[in-house]
Amino acid sequence: MCWPQWVCLLLFICCAQSGYGESATVNLLVGSDFHLRRNPARTVEFLRDTLDGAGGVDAVVLNGDLVDYPDPGHDRLGRLLAAVGDMPRLVLFGNHDGDDAFRPEDRARLRAAELAIPGVSLAAQDELRGADGLVDLVVGGLRVIALDTGSRRPAMFHVNGYDTAPEKAIRRMRQTAPHSTCTLAFMHIPPCEICSMLTELDGSLRESVSASMPNDRGVWEGLQQAGVKHVFLGHDHGNLGTVLDAPDDISVHYSGRGGFEGYYVGAANQASLLHVAVDTDTCTVTVGVSSQTRAHVAATSIAKPDVPRCGCPLKFDSFGILAVLVPGVVSLLTGACSLLSLVLYNGKKNSTRSNK
Ligand SMILES: [Zn+2]
Repeated sequence: MCWPQWVCLLLFICCAQSGYGESATVNLLVGSDFHLRRNPARTVEFLRDTLDGAGGVDAVVLNGDLVDYPDPGHDRLGRLLAAVGDMPRLVLFGNHDGDDAFRPEDRARLRAAELAIPGVSLAAQDELRGADGLVDLVVGGLRVIALDTGSRRPAMFHVNGYDTAPEKAIRRMRQTAPHSTCTLAFMHIPPCEICSMLTELDGSLRESVSASMPNDRGVWEGLQQAGVKHVFLGHDHGNLGTVLDAPDDISVHYSGRGGFEGYYVGAANQASLLHVAVDTDTCTVTVGVSSQTRAHVAATSIAKPDVPRCGCPLKFDSFGILAVLVPGVVSLLTGACSLLSLVLYNGKKNSTRSNK
């Protein structure tokens, strides 16, 4: 063996021992919008089966709207968490887990319980314990920022009243220095989808759910300051997977359609969960989808549409068509009635005059 081959062999051994060239991957299973109602069995089973079948999942993120309003005794949420078992998990709440489902003190208690699971919780190393609605922790070579959204008082000018994270959480996030660790952020309510009152209907049509008004209060800027590369959102039932890029190369990923129960928008026939593989060296993610009918489909990344960040491809569904048709038909009928009344009134007036 001549000397160049010796050098190559030595380099190979050194590289193999140091792990150089290997990329660390963290695998997450991300779901939201389960909207568990009276009979959550199918959804719970789907989550359990997906976890069993996936293998190698490092942690589960449940990103809000876990139940659909009142959940006496936390029965439905308890069944969902039981399906996750001892797997490290991060649990966030959404607008449907709001004060009607859990009183504020219940939310706080549940959150504290999640964060306190020793040794298994994703948030176990979070010294801040989710205070002020912000979780900020480093685990497994990954930095995770989570903003608790969805049940705070509605802001005055938001038509639908979906609010973003508490001001304290946003302020704290904006104060944190950028991190060299690959940083992901999770929140249920999208920071900004609807730019104006006029786009409210448009947004609702696109997303199969009432979209949130501009409620960011500096969330995007805070995410940028914190060095976030990927944001995972719930609430939006129309988008799934990686849909568009926000400014400054923050990738946006939606995880709606988690449960079979869905709610009235037709999402009930299919439940989906995102498989997210994070390369912590390059901070790139690969997103796949597990659903009722197809499993582990390759990445569903969709090219960024040529629209402002508050928009996405227009989509008509039954809800959207009804939302347009019903007001239209009502307006037409009202107009026709007014016209008919006017004609009849004038006709009557003219006949009275001619009789005189
Ligand atoms: Zn929601």
